[in-house]
Amino acid sequence: MILLSPLRIGTLEVKNRIVMSALGLVYADNGMVTERLIRFYEERGRGGAGLIILGACHVDEHSYPFQPSIHDQKYLPGLSEFANRVKATGTRVGCQLFHAGRYCYSALTGRQPIAPSAVFSKFNFEMPREMSAEDVNQVVKNFGQAAVMAKKAGFDLVEIIGSAGYLISQFLSPLTNQRTDAYGGSLENRMRFGLDVVREVRNQIGTETAIMFRFAGNELLPGGTPREELQAFARELELAGVDAINVTGGWHESNIPQITMEVPPGTFVYLARQIKDVVTIPVVASNRINDPLQAERILAEGSADLITVARGLIADPYWPEKARTGRIEEIRKCIGCNQGCLDHVFEMKPVECLVNAQAGHEAEFDVRPTNERKRVLVIGGGPAGMEAARAASGRGHEVELWEKTNRMGGQLNLAAVPPGRQDILNLIKNLEKSLESSGVKVRLNKEATLEAVREFSPQAVIVATGAKPTVPPIPGIEKDIVIQAWDLLEHGLAIGKNVVVIGGGAIGCETALHIAAMGTISAEMARFLLIHHVETPDRIEELTCSGTKKVTLIEQRDGIGLDIGRSTRWGMLASLKRYRIKTLSSTKVLAIDDDGVLVESGGNQTKIHADNVIIATGSISNDVMYKELQKYIQEIYIIGDAIRPRKALEAIHEGFKIGITI
Ligand code: SF4
Repeated sequence: MILLSPLRIGTLEVKNRIVMSALGLVYADNGMVTERLIRFYEERGRGGAGLIILGACHVDEHSYPFQPSIHDQKYLPGLSEFANRVKATGTRVGCQLFHAGRYCYSALTGRQPIAPSAVFSKFNFEMPREMSAEDVNQVVKNFGQAAVMAKKAGFDLVEIIGSAGYLISQFLSPLTNQRTDAYGGSLENRMRFGLDVVREVRNQIGTETAIMFRFAGNELLPGGTPREELQAFARELELAGVDAINVTGGWHESNIPQITMEVPPGTFVYLARQIKDVVTIPVVASNRINDPLQAERILAEGSADLITVARGLIADPYWPEKARTGRIEEIRKCIGCNQGCLDHVFEMKPVECLVNAQAGHEAEFDVRPTNERKRVLVIGGGPAGMEAARAASGRGHEVELWEKTNRMGGQLNLAAVPPGRQDILNLIKNLEKSLESSGVKVRLNKEATLEAVREFSPQAVIVATGAKPTVPPIPGIEKDIVIQAWDLLEHGLAIGKNVVVIGGGAIGCETALHIAAMGTISAEMARFLLIHHVETPDRIEELTCSGTKKVTLIEQRDGIGLDIGRSTRWGMLASLKRYRIKTLSSTKVLAIDDDGVLVESGGNQTKIHADNVIIATGSISNDVMYKELQKYIQEIYIIGDAIRPRKALEAIHEGFKIGITI
């Protein structure tokens, strides 16, 4: 595979084309490298990545305590230990030099953000201070000094971040650069700051340390830097001494999703290709590349020379090694949920991973073979039960899993139904595969009655019976037009044209989207109609988002999707709008009758016509079996939604923890 072949970046040879791009992990302590950070990356180094980049290392005091800093000698010992230990695993290490400019949070840095111009930021809702000529010179010098420290620490490469809307890209873009001096106005002037940084770094570290530049291939903002100017900047970067360009998607302020589950894998690879067209140095493709075969295609087609995998290696550190040894099916793929990674970063919590409970806890969990082999029964084949069974069996227990329906996955099957959620099926497949390879005996259509459990005589029982949907006490809830969201998603029932969904949480939003997508054209159909000019792009867009149902989503609280993580909620709200779903928050359903619902909002009552009413008002734990079995089984555990309905991340993590301790 090209993916597994070596490549030279400047003077640096990397053993394969897999780059673990820089991540904000919230593992640093007051800017210092921590043991947690090193252990996390050592594991990814052992997993076979060719190059690992530590980010986002702050080059001055505009820095966050939970990210590494590189602007004072006190940080050098930690950075050196990081570089030495991670390199010892056989990978190469890079250090990303970072300045957020107007994206800095004053609450964290204690100072007003600085930027090329005083242009308000919709990312952090702050007004920055325009940088003086002295500020500009100082920040350029800071980048150079930080690069010297990275080299001294033993890093093989420095990456300068000029993407995502951070400081260097703010200088390049006409949207944020309104200066009238030598750093603003013409393209030549707007490129100057980034090029000064590159030249300063090159002057300071010489030619033996490689420089990579991270670059937004499209700002994805109206009025942003045009493609021709971005290509011109890439050419100038090469001339200024950059050894490779890492091309990503747009700015954080963009309202175009770039890494969520709905983004088709590899969507933004074309941005790398258009930079590769104009430079001779290696180009790296990024964003939603999470499969080795897809990566190989990108390289074989010539769209890029390397690929980045970041969340994919949080999810499975051994992604490269499994690709190398022909075990691609065993890779536990990132599903783009952002539940444990980006959502945690937004909450300033250390990064975890929905599909990998060990991520970020490498030093914490000691998974050892058991000394006392037990006969373990797991009741329930949802994510918690599957993970518990896998982990327990992996340690040597004899494990049997009973699932009362005819398929595994529990609520994950429902979550995978709405448009853009199909990656969740990968998780079910992977969990099934790992049950198979760890020797768990799975019995489908097996109801766990008291008699059956006693007859099986397990030494330990793990109850993972999940949750069931709530039935809200609304007059008329028993009417024929009422359907539970779970039943609709599970069985694909026929419904009428006018549909009201009650409950505007995650399940309600996803169900509303699923219904609104009925009758729309598929991506393949849209492509056909577009390339044959059958319809105008506007009409194709309408056919893609406007189906045969008219959907109204009603929520009692004063917002829609309030239980959805920050990284995903804004995209969900945009999708609801795009699919023409009418949303009513702060609205209470008073009654359901044969042709609609009576609602009340702000003291006014209104009747909304509906052929069907879908209930998505949440769920309650299903712990009946646990309570029953507790009387008879000495060693019994309850996990996941059976304790209390929560997200899949909690279910899988609880399953793992029980599996490794039982
Ligand atoms: Fe991927 Fe979700 Fe894990 Fe983040 S939490 S790495 S998006 S699977």
